[in-house]
This record gives sequence, C-alpha cells and structure tokens, in this order.
Amino acid sequence: MNIWPLKGMAKHVAITRYPGETETTPGVTPGRPTSAAPDDHGLCPTHALRPDGGDVDLSRCIHCFRCVREPDALARWENDYEWGRFLPGRGALPRAFRRSIHVRVVDSGDCGACLAELLQLECPEYSLHRLGIYVTPSPRDADVLLVVGPVTNAMRGPLEAAYAAMPEPKRVVAAGTCAASGGLFGPTFECNNGVAGAIPVDLVVPGCPPPPLAMLQALLAVMGRGQSPGEEVR
Ligand code: SF4
Ligand code: SF4
Repeated sequence: MNIWPLKGMAKHVAITRYPGETETTPGVTPGRPTSAAPDDHGLCPTHALRPDGGDVDLSRCIHCFRCVREPDALARWENDYEWGRFLPGRGALPRAFRRSIHVRVVDSGDCGACLAELLQLECPEYSLHRLGIYVTPSPRDADVLLVVGPVTNAMRGPLEAAYAAMPEPKRVVAAGTCAASGGLFGPTFECNNGVAGAIPVDLVVPGCPPPPLAMLQALLAVMGRGQSPGEEVR
C-alpha cells in the first residue's frame, strides 16, 4: 500500500509547496559547501576545494562532509537546493515548452543513488505531473535528455544514439557529480569524464546525489520557468 498520501494527510502537507514557495521541510536537502578556506592539507578527496580557497568546484564535490566536520571545518555550508546552472551560452527551451515537456532519462552508469533521488519526483510528495513534466521511454518523444552517471564506455553509444534520435529543439541536463565531471569514477579506462565528453550539455546539476528538488529546479529551468542566474523560480 502506498503510504505517501496518508503521511501527507497526517502532516497536512500532501505535496511540496515548491516552486510556488520555498520548501522548508527538514531533510529536503543535504546542503552544499559554497565557499571554503584554503585547502592546503589536501582535506578534500576530490580536489573540489581549491588550495587558495574561495568558491568550491561543485562539479567535483561528492558530499563527503569532510570540509564541515570539526575540527577541520573549512567550508561555509548552505542548505539550499536550487543548484542547476546553465553552461555558458546555453539556455532554456523556446517559450512553447513553458507548460509541458517530455523527459527521457538515461542511466549512463550511476551508482543507483542519483536515479533513486530522481525517482522520488514521481511520488505524491513532489508530483512531477502537476508541473507538466512527463517521463517518456522514447527519445523520439523527448524534449529533454536527463543523464545520470559518468558515462561508461558501454553506455556511450546508447547515450549518443538517444541524443541523435531526439527532435529539435532539445536540451541535455547532466544530473549529479558523476554526470558533471566523471566524479569518483572517471575519467578511467572504463569511464568517461561526464556527459559533456559524449554529447552537448546545456545544464548541470551538481550533487552526489542531487536531492529531488534540485532535479526539479533544473527541469523547470529548462522549461524557461527559472532559474538561470538572476531569475526567480516560479
Ligand atoms: S564535501 Fe567533501 S568533496 Fe565536497 S568540497 Fe567538502 S571535502 Fe570536498
Ligand atoms: S553523483 Fe554520486 S550518487 Fe550520483 S551516480 Fe555519482 S557517485 Fe552515485
């Protein structure tokens, strides 16, 4: 039995208030490091922290929390979830797609966690369909290709084929640290260095894994409903 509707009724919150309002329910985001002191002792295992400090390279951060643990706390941590950003020169779909899109999801070799977070969007708590976002099994029907995982050699061909089969206009979302940069898995003899090494990427959502609301914000951004820098999510 699906207990989500009952939980929602008991809490008087059947569905997230996002994007109409900021979601403040505890646990909706693990947060992320946004700036840090110089990492001169090599604390960060993925070199997301820079030796000279400043902004964190979120495309490499794996959320190991080392940089916020005492006594080694180096980073400022923010509990936000609007993490998706367009790459330079990239943007949303044309205005006709503001109300509805179809999304083809490709698992290019993820560890399972990114996909598990993404699946949460189908639950009543997030209810993807209320926003006009539908998952399709066919790339020929898809406006957006959402890719998780670092792109293993075995998945590179299928990923390129899915991209080639999509009609124009189309957009690609790379979700998760692995998709953004290869993460812990790539580049290696068996793995690519993320989605951009195989097909053109429009928007990257960092996180290991990104929480469901971060993925939702990315899809809304691709629809032109926010958020590129300076825009608000509506
Ligand atoms: S959370 Fe871990 S991977 Fe991310 S910046 Fe901090 S130390 Fe590096
Ligand atoms: S980004 Fe993290 S959670 Fe997602 S596939 Fe890679 S290791 Fe797994």
